Parts: sequence; C-alpha cells; structure tokens
Amino acid sequence: MKLIRFGPSGKEKSGVLIDGQRLDVSASGLVYNEDFFANQGFEKLAEWLKAHQDGAPVLGEDVRLGAPICRPSKIICIGLNYSDHAKEAGMTPPSQPVVFFKATSAMVGPNDDLIIPKDSQKTDWEVELAIVIGKKASYVTRERARDYIAGYSLHNDYSERAYQIEHEGQWVKGKSCDTFAPLGPFLASQDEIQDVQDLNLWLTVNGKKMQAGNTKNMIFSCDYIVSYLSQYMTLLPGDVISTGTPAGVGLGFDPPIYIKPNDVIELGIDGLGSSKQVAKRYTP
Ligand code: ZN
Repeated sequence: MKLIRFGPSGKEKSGVLIDGQRLDVSASGLVYNEDFFANQGFEKLAEWLKAHQDGAPVLGEDVRLGAPICRPSKIICIGLNYSDHAKEAGMTPPSQPVVFFKATSAMVGPNDDLIIPKDSQKTDWEVELAIVIGKKASYVTRERARDYIAGYSLHNDYSERAYQIEHEGQWVKGKSCDTFAPLGPFLASQDEIQDVQDLNLWLTVNGKKMQAGNTKNMIFSCDYIVSYLSQYMTLLPGDVISTGTPAGVGLGFDPPIYIKPNDVIELGIDGLGSSKQVAKRYTP
C-alpha cells in the first residue's frame, strides 16, 4: 500500500497511490495519524478499498501533495550514518548511532517550496530514507524490529550548517526551520519494498547530481536503529526516523556549496518515488 495526503496545507485529505493513480479515499474516514497505525489502519483501508476503490475519485496530476502522514509525535534523525558522509564532514564514523531531533513543525509536502531561513547563508540538502513506526516500540530487539515498522518514505533532511555547527550546542537548531522536512511523495508499507538495505538514493541541485548512494552503506541498519532508539525512548505509531545521508552534501565541497534562492533540488529513492523543492527567500 502507498499512502498519500493531498490538498491545501493543513487541510490534507487521505489518498492512496495504486497503479500510478492517485485516489481520494477520504470517504473512508481514515486519517493517517497515530491511531491509524496503532489500530490496523492498513487492514481497514484495504477492506474499504475492496468495496469502494472503483468509485473513489481520481486526483489530477496538479493536486498538491502533503506529507503522507499527519504530524508525528517525533522526528528523530540519525547523523553520520554513512561513512563517506562522516568523512566529508570531517568527523569519525560513530561507534553508536548519533541521535538528534528535528522539530515536527518543519514537516511539509514533498514538492513544497524550501524557505531559506531569515539571514541564512548555509542551507544544505540531505537525501534520506525515513522509517515510519507502525506500533508502539519500547525495548525492542533487533530481531523483532521489523514488526514495529509501518513503512518507508523519502525525506530531505534540510540543514542550516551555521545554525547546526557554528551556533554551538545541539544540532536541532540547524535542522528544525520551517520547511526543512519535506516528506514523501508517499509512505510505502513494508511489503512494497523488497530489501530496504539495498536502495539507491540520489539528489540533484539544478539538474546536477550531488548525492548518489545506496542504503547498503548505512553504518547502522534500519532494524538496528529502531531497536537502538527503543532502548532510550518509546517510539509511537507514526513517528518518523530519518536514517542519515550519504556523501555529497554542500558542506562537503571545497569550497562548500549552499542553496541560493530559485535553486531546484530534486531527490529520490528506489521504490519510494521522487520529490522536488524550489528554494525561496524568507519573507515575513
Ligand atoms: Zn541527516
């Protein structure tokens, strides 16, 4: 199953992507929130589709997509999870996952504009695979981690490097600006993805390839990360975990390359579609 949400920002409705067609399933009453994932939402949706798929309105290509899930309780990010990226950032690959938060208010639709924060000079990109939690997870073993995953989505972990690094303290300041978490186009349930640890991921800026990696090069696998985080906090259904970025971020170039107004950033992951953001200057 591939879940989408569509419509104006803040008023998104539920949809699905089936055989390349976007269908409005809002008549089902199902909303992709914590309750949906905690209470057999996929099964209920499949049941509803059996009876109503033929009559479900088909959405036009021009419809705005929101993030494929409602605002989660947490967006947790894993830093330096690809050794080539750790190297370009001038850091040692970690012996345990580097964990930081991103404000949930940063989450937007996959093709919404990126707003370069006020006075920002160092806004940067990071293509990442995001895990969406499907079941309340506390002290989960690595072997059972898959049981707690609803599915996967494409995420751009936008980062303001001055806020993140030069302003000292925790990374969260450089990760949480509005529009810094475009998620989607869709959430793919686990069964849609054959091997989550063998997916190509890429990112271009103005058509030029900047990042090209594969999830097999993660230092800590998705299962490991879910198990690891659940030793420190309870993961709730619908929570998002962004699993780190491969090499090729702007910070890694000499001299660094940062995002300018009107830049076009496109990214994608095998089986999880692609997204596109146009950078805009902040206006009050
Ligand atoms: Zn990241």
